[in-house]
Amino acid sequence: MNSGLKKFSNRERSARIKEATASYYDLIIIGGGITGAGIALDASLRGLKTILLEKNDFASGTSSKSTKLIHGGLRYLKQLEIGLVRESGLERAIAHSNACHLVHPENMVLPIVNNGSFSKYSASAAISVYDWLANVPAKDKKRVLNKEQAKELEPLLRMDILKSAIVYSEYRTDDARLTIELIKAARRNNSEAFNYLEVVDFIEENAKVKGVICLDNISGDEFCIHGEVIVNAGGPWVDQLRKINESESKSNLRLSKGVHIVIDRSKLPLNNSSYFDAFDGRMIFAIPRGDVVYVGTSDTDYIGNKDELKCSKEDAEYLLNALNRFFDVPEVHISDIKSTWTGLRPLIQQEGKSATEVSRKDEIFTSKNGLLSIAGGKLTGFRKMAERILAAVYQQSSKDFVPSRTEEYKIHHRPFSNYSDFCARVKVLSKQYEKCGLGFNTVEAILSNFGNDGTDLLLKAEMSPTLSTPENVKRLMITQLNYTIDYESVFSPMDFLERRTGWLYFEVNKVNTYLDFVSNHLAKTFELSEEQRQEHLLRAQKSLKNATLGDIVNPMTGAST
Ligand code: FAD
Repeated sequence: MNSGLKKFSNRERSARIKEATASYYDLIIIGGGITGAGIALDASLRGLKTILLEKNDFASGTSSKSTKLIHGGLRYLKQLEIGLVRESGLERAIAHSNACHLVHPENMVLPIVNNGSFSKYSASAAISVYDWLANVPAKDKKRVLNKEQAKELEPLLRMDILKSAIVYSEYRTDDARLTIELIKAARRNNSEAFNYLEVVDFIEENAKVKGVICLDNISGDEFCIHGEVIVNAGGPWVDQLRKINESESKSNLRLSKGVHIVIDRSKLPLNNSSYFDAFDGRMIFAIPRGDVVYVGTSDTDYIGNKDELKCSKEDAEYLLNALNRFFDVPEVHISDIKSTWTGLRPLIQQEGKSATEVSRKDEIFTSKNGLLSIAGGKLTGFRKMAERILAAVYQQSSKDFVPSRTEEYKIHHRPFSNYSDFCARVKVLSKQYEKCGLGFNTVEAILSNFGNDGTDLLLKAEMSPTLSTPENVKRLMITQLNYTIDYESVFSPMDFLERRTGWLYFEVNKVNTYLDFVSNHLAKTFELSEEQRQEHLLRAQKSLKNATLGDIVNPMTGAST
């Protein structure tokens, strides 16, 4: 592999932890979601000695459960959040330019229907403003289609309610991959980061937070890590950490639950991503990805256990009703759902507003003892959130800062020159590996997930046309598994099967096929006891059951219970 790739493995965990406990950091970041990851990269590029601590796996919180769009948020225009829309709109192009293998342009179709949320004129005007705020180049600006053109573009639209449609530009990503790529980039710039390291308390010196007490969720050991400034980027757990810090007893967060369901593309053969009416005034996305389409999201207040989230029958039915009423397809049933994911939006409290109406702006809270907490915001805004929190860090730091360098910084260590370069490589390699039984979607997913390293992974797998397709696919799976153990800190089966590859959501058959193998391979790699291996396997099986609605759909009959 290219020398820019830095080892990032739990195999060297003890030595790295020893070094971390003996060090003094300029910045300690709690939380390995997109917010913490973005801060880690910005801080490390400014020369701060930084460490990021994550209690589970990286991106295991909200940052693997989003709609996976890098978008301006058209609906926020309706709420007159002009600043937010402009900032997110501008950030889209930056994210695409800095990670073109992972942030792909996506045409979005907004159908205008009888009694819908938008009229053709209101939608057209809103999207013109949207394009203008985001400086969208002329070739990508919105197009207004009449009814026939809309039907031609997207034959599944229901003619009896369709009036016209608008096509506009957005970007699609993989949130968990973006998070891990940011953390890897931060480490290339001398940051440190650990998954499975939970902050359980704070250390104060002269009434200021100057360190954290960590529980190693792998070894069970507790130890201290010291640093000058501490940022709490705990997402839905921000308030919990503030309570541990005794800086705040009142909750500032409002958690909103959002569910996505995944349907086989053969059941919902959409050509394009759509942003459509749920007929209750909310808007829902349907996004094709490989052989599936995902549909979401719901948006309901949540006060339950943040660590035990799952899609309920009502959540699934809400999304199914919306798509069954909107698209001209044979009815899609709960038993057609291949997978699901459920996330919590860590929103800032606003009295008198529904979950959907609450602003998606981010906010920084500074406690009396100096703990900086950042919450709210969006995946899309990670770079600007990092800039804002680093301005607050600057106030407390004894170090001099250089300005942020993230606007121009290529996140992958071997970036493609541009998106056309990425697409051309996918085309060439899919032709090459067709003989080994790999489809276009598989090759695209490898390059999208691993960037240019994906080319090496395909080569290293030693696939051959003389082998069966399942054998080739398995070889490729093992190569990815080993890469993610060595360079992406994979430790538990779902680190790999859910967050590094996205298979739990988008290719759940692979999880069924490889779960036992992955669990055994990881147990051997990390010399786990049989009891530990069983524990990991059970946890992974529970995640699989939750994602595939095991409690709701009878696996024998496919009927909902
Ligand atoms: P998280 O990703 O939750 O990260 C916080 C991390 O802190 C967690 O991993 C957690 O384990 C860790 N942690 C907590 N306590 C501790 C502790 N004591 N010690 C160590 N670690 C700790 N935004 C977009 O831009 N585009 C979208 O399409 C989009 N769609 C969305 C759809 C849904 C359904 C939801 C819920 C959100 C969506 N968002 C979207 C918003 C976006 O996903 C979130 O704003 C973002 O992921 C929040 O990231 P975070 O890092 O702040 O939180």
